[in-house]
Amino acid sequence: MGPSSVIVVGGGMSGLLAAAAASPYVQRVVIVEKDEFPAQPGPRRGVPQGRQVHALLGAGQDAMAKLLPGIVDDFEAAGARMVDSPADLAVFGRQGWAGRVRSGTRTVMMRRPQLEHVVRSRVLALSTVESMTSSVSGLTATTDGSRITGVRLVDGSVLEADLVIDATGRVSRSPEWLRLLGYAEPEEKEMRSHIGYATVEVRLPNGVLDGDVAGVLAHPNPDNCRGAAVVPADNGMYLIAGLGMMNQDPPKDLDGFLAHLDSAPSPIIGEIARKAEFLGPVVPYRIRGSRRRMWEELDSRPEGYLVVGDAVMAFNPLYGQGMSVAACEAVCLAETLAEDPDRDGLGRRAQSAMKEVIDTVFAMAVSTDGAYPGAELIGVEPPAAADIAAGAVLSQVATEDAEVALAAKRYAHNFDRDALRTPGIAAKIAAWREQGRTVLNNDPTVIPGLID
Ligand SMILES: Cc1cc2nc3c(=O)[nH]c(=O)nc-3n(C[C@H](O)[C@H](O)[C@H](O)COP(=O)(O)OP(=O)(O)OC[C@H]3O[C@@H](n4cnc5c(N)ncnc54)[C@H](O)[C@@H]3O)c2cc1C
Repeated sequence: MGPSSVIVVGGGMSGLLAAAAASPYVQRVVIVEKDEFPAQPGPRRGVPQGRQVHALLGAGQDAMAKLLPGIVDDFEAAGARMVDSPADLAVFGRQGWAGRVRSGTRTVMMRRPQLEHVVRSRVLALSTVESMTSSVSGLTATTDGSRITGVRLVDGSVLEADLVIDATGRVSRSPEWLRLLGYAEPEEKEMRSHIGYATVEVRLPNGVLDGDVAGVLAHPNPDNCRGAAVVPADNGMYLIAGLGMMNQDPPKDLDGFLAHLDSAPSPIIGEIARKAEFLGPVVPYRIRGSRRRMWEELDSRPEGYLVVGDAVMAFNPLYGQGMSVAACEAVCLAETLAEDPDRDGLGRRAQSAMKEVIDTVFAMAVSTDGAYPGAELIGVEPPAAADIAAGAVLSQVATEDAEVALAAKRYAHNFDRDALRTPGIAAKIAAWREQGRTVLNNDPTVIPGLID
């Protein structure tokens, strides 16, 4: 018999989406969230990163639409800007401008609290889902510790369920909670690349952005650890962000912030920022890097327990993956429940099902963050020089070849590992190398047009 009741600890993106995934298969899902959910979209304490620029990738949007059909229309109704991101967003990387190419897809751009508000409204409207405001302080289990039976709340009361899902994000205390029940802690892998963010909400006067471009990103790279972005958000608003790797944090004072934008690999964002109307303060944020806990590898784990979202793998946010991976994980949970909702082994099976998407995204993170001199890799092999070189050539070809540019986006945005593994792409990369070609679209001050 499958679980009839589920407790989701944490009502951020991963908790909401896990609740949506479980709701068709059980009688009751209770989301326990320590913050009072705001009636209107707005930042909240439990999600301090919410004021920073957030992008939803195609993989995440598709997964959300599977779990909550029609949600993309809801995003649009709430004011989201829809973009064909490979074409509409100009991205300057270490190898030059990524080829801008039409993909025919439409992806949501919104501020994070606005996005979460739409998801939350949909999830809390599900007939089997309810929420309560409280903080979870620990787990309850059978006397032999073999099965989790519920959670203990800060007021000392206990809430029972057949399945408990930890969706508390980076602050997750699951290792400690399970240790107290006699279980080993999961192995941790970490990449410390000391990342700084600073974001401000702005309006842009007409004509500030180049003709058909909706946003510009200049990624930091090992030669220049400072980056910058201007991206569209909801309701006509834009976000301008300074990004820094390896302790190159953008300052929050205006002059320092603008100087940081100016020093990014493309100066265009700094120029745009000077013409923008700032709607609030520049809000800084800093994190140590990416951390993965190998929950799926535990030899022994209690029944009735699952860990999701940033509590499993908290990513370097520069690549915009966290919410999308959380949505893909929730689809894995739904599929595991649909296949066989049997209580025994459900948590272990769902955790294993999530491994593939996490592995894919983790490999991307290692290949990029691992290439920064001084990045601290703990339990992680640094990327091989040959792989870094191969990635560089691929990015070079993608500056001017539409097929390669689109495949690179499918890999980065849709976590499609096979997109780049075609004979046609291999041949193009080999030809580029043999001919000793160099990048033409690498003037940081000029955004190239679309390619086809
Ligand atoms: C600077 C920055 C920029 C980012 N940019 C992007 C981006 O562009 N695209 C993207 O997809 N992702 C981005 N992310 C990552 C993204 O924010 C997370 O991956 C995503 O929010 C999923 O997190 P989560 O739901 O697992 O955790 P969180 O969002 O941290 O939510 C955890 C929830 O649990 C609650 N909670 C915690 N402890 C308890 C407790 N004991 N009891 C009850 N409730 C509790 C918290 O209040 C919170 O609501 C970014 C992150 C950062 C730091």
